[in-house]
Amino acid sequence: MVKCPHCGAEVEKPIKSWTMRPKKRKGPTILIELYECPNGHKFRTGRKIE
Ligand SMILES: [Zn+2]
Repeated sequence: MVKCPHCGAEVEKPIKSWTMRPKKRKGPTILIELYECPNGHKFRTGRKIE
């Protein structure tokens, strides 16, 4: 569960997720998740995955 940064509503699941890998240098892969809260705000979160 994540909270909407705009209104504080809790969102259970992302509507979309994908990963970003660094192209040139070695580094952690970032998992990006796109959420839409019940009030219509869309926001993304990013976190490192191993
Ligand atoms: Zn919201």
